[in-house]
Amino acid sequence: LFGYVGIEAVLDQMKVKTMKMGFEFNIMVVGQSGLGKSTMVNTLFKSKVSRKASQPGQEERIPKTVQLQSVTHVIEEKGVKMKLTVTDTPGFGDQINNENCWDPIIKYINEQYERYLREEILITRKRKIPDTRVHGCVYFVMVVPPWGGGHGGHAGVMVVLGRLRPLDLEFMRRLSKIVNVVPVIAKADTLTLEERAEFKQRIQEDLKTHAISVYPQEDFDQDPDDRALNDRIREKIPFAVVGADQEHQVNGKRVLGRKTKWGIIEVENPAHCEFPLLQDLLIRSHLQDLKDITHNVHYESYRVRRLNESNR
Ligand code: GDP
Ligand code: MG
Repeated sequence: LFGYVGIEAVLDQMKVKTMKMGFEFNIMVVGQSGLGKSTMVNTLFKSKVSRKASQPGQEERIPKTVQLQSVTHVIEEKGVKMKLTVTDTPGFGDQINNENCWDPIIKYINEQYERYLREEILITRKRKIPDTRVHGCVYFVMVVPPWGGGHGGHAGVMVVLGRLRPLDLEFMRRLSKIVNVVPVIAKADTLTLEERAEFKQRIQEDLKTHAISVYPQEDFDQDPDDRALNDRIREKIPFAVVGADQEHQVNGKRVLGRKTKWGIIEVENPAHCEFPLLQDLLIRSHLQDLKDITHNVHYESYRVRRLNESNR
């Protein structure tokens, strides 16, 4: 009917627009205290942003996180600016009574939706509404082997025979209704490869049994291609990650890693741990999808709920 129209020129226009405007991307880390959340925030930034910032071998202890705390860096690549914000949260689980330990975190997530909504319903809207909504929530789980092994030293409290703790299940169940949850197995360097595989499978089973839909949610696959790609990711979730904020020399190169008696565990080496998979999913392959689902699904249901409330 039409001959060649050349509509693909729109791709260039979109690109130019994104380059001019830049975009925001917000991640949050959640989980029990001491699992390496704050370290992971540094790992994410050090691997991406400020390579030169730290001196090899220089110890800087990460203080215990006592309140929600956001760090923002602008990352620029080929003229595209990404404003990456990572929100660190205090670990829960320190108290004897962990009831409602998710309240401050859920409150924070909802507050960001509320902020966005307020801007959106103004008569004169900003051309670009500042977006502080959480696009991805990395949830740290630690599964202790049935023999109550030496990870973390909380044996007896945390041990649920290699399965997820009820607290983690409940927390993730609540979170997954309002935000994209990406579960990870923390401190994977303390697990053997067999343990990693076994825990992974058990966690997948637990999530399924309790109908907790983590990212990428099966319901939101767009088409068969999408499904095939996401199925491969779902098989690997939760990623077994290792965090580190120290750099070391390996074969003349500086790498981020944890130095042990037996060698250096390189966090960015896919042969050593799955941090590269997590990083790739979050800030490369699924970045736009995380933003889309946040906007079209999670924010949308918040918006509907809120507007219904105020119409009553
Ligand atoms: P947070 O309470 O979850 O923020 O945990 P931190 O990041 O403060 O880390 C608690 C302790 O665990 C620190 O001593 C870290 O050096 C250590 N740690 C962090 N990540 C890892 C990891 O991947 N493997 C191991 N073995 N230790 C880690
Ligand atoms: Mg911390």
